Amino acid sequence: MGRIVQKFGGTSVADVDRIRHVATLVKRQLDQGDQVAVVVSAMAGVTNGLVDLVRRIAPVHDAHEYDAVVATGECVTSGLTALALQELGIPARSWHAWQIPFRTDDAHGRARILGIDTDTLEARLAEGQVPVVAGFQGLGTDGRTTTLGRGGSDITAVALAAALKADRCDIYTDVDGVYTTDPRIVAKARKLDRITYEEMLEMASQGAKVLHTRSVELAMNQRVRLQVLSSFTGASGTMVVDEDEIVEHQVVSGIAYSRDEAKITVIKIADRPGVAARLFGPLAEAGINVDMIVQGASEDGKTADLTFTVVKGDADRALKAVNALKGDLGFAAVVHDASVVKISVIGVGMRSHAGVAAKMFQALADRGINLQAISTSEIKISVLVAEEYTELAIRALHAAYGLDAA
Ligand code: ADP
Ligand code: ASP
Ligand code: MG
Repeated sequence: MGRIVQKFGGTSVADVDRIRHVATLVKRQLDQGDQVAVVVSAMAGVTNGLVDLVRRIAPVHDAHEYDAVVATGECVTSGLTALALQELGIPARSWHAWQIPFRTDDAHGRARILGIDTDTLEARLAEGQVPVVAGFQGLGTDGRTTTLGRGGSDITAVALAAALKADRCDIYTDVDGVYTTDPRIVAKARKLDRITYEEMLEMASQGAKVLHTRSVELAMNQRVRLQVLSSFTGASGTMVVDEDEIVEHQVVSGIAYSRDEAKITVIKIADRPGVAARLFGPLAEAGINVDMIVQGASEDGKTADLTFTVVKGDADRALKAVNALKGDLGFAAVVHDASVVKISVIGVGMRSHAGVAAKMFQALADRGINLQAISTSEIKISVLVAEEYTELAIRALHAAYGLDAA
């Protein structure tokens, strides 16, 4: 007998028929003799609707009450799913975070998990009951409901799998696994049978929203076996595995993109030691993460243009922080551009192969696509390009690295 955590995303619980179908997937797992704990998201579109309601009442709002409102989507689906299971004769019970409790810190809207008390859930599992846990939500140290951040029910599922020492965490979604790139953008994207934790982590953090970045990080650290599969097709999914479980590595395994970047350029800033520290120090103090950084060669040897990117939601605050330094640093101007996209090619095979970047730059140059910034890590190369080239660039790179399906 094994123990499985099954997580169902928004499209998988989008209406009553789909919730009934989810119940049959749980039953199928139980019929194999496994214990099952379920985690559900809100019905597709519901969380967006709740966020919108909050913003209409209060554009600048109290984070506690934001959480109190947006966490309710998952309360509905956990109850409905438990009912659908009961209709199949399966003993099931819904669980909100506070009832478990699923404890987090009190960083409302982006809470981090402190611990999950599993005693009650363990007892119910031992009795043959199926717990249906509301994803995305937590109980803060302040005694109030928190949320883990958008897309956070993946985190709930992996954390629960780790706490319950489950044999596997299955993430059911609307695609039948992790693809070489977003199948909505590239029709020739291929499903991967396996991907390493490291590659999945890069894919997620560079924009592939099929798994939440923090869920992959947690799975990697807590040694949770993670599978992504479709709740619609019944096809086998993608296993996220250790590197040594993959015999032959592709040089590039996947391509991710993020439209969530904004580019900020500080024009004619003094080209001398200490300037970058004085510019980026205040940004760090304001809690703003800087992603890509490029410094252009200076014409006169005295000044340079310095470009960096931040997530779109931080752009206004970043501009304000930089402008406040104008008197001190004496640059000419600050400009910003939000119509950019970051495209990243990812693969552990890059460690042992040369020429990966050259191939990327050539494929984009052949299409006349200009690179506005570049950044690299051991297993990833990212470029910033104008947003209008998103599809063209991804398709060109997908073909260039031989990822297109036959
Ligand atoms: P859920 O509601 O089930 O959590 P999400 O919308 O969060 O589902 O994630 C699934 C979506 O992720 C897919 O519909 C797909 O468009 C997108 N996606 C982006 N990159 C990839 C990729 N490399 N492989 C699979 N899906 C991807
Ligand atoms: N319902 C939440 C959201 O839409 C959490 C999730 O779906 O993972 O962000
Ligand atoms: Mg998701």
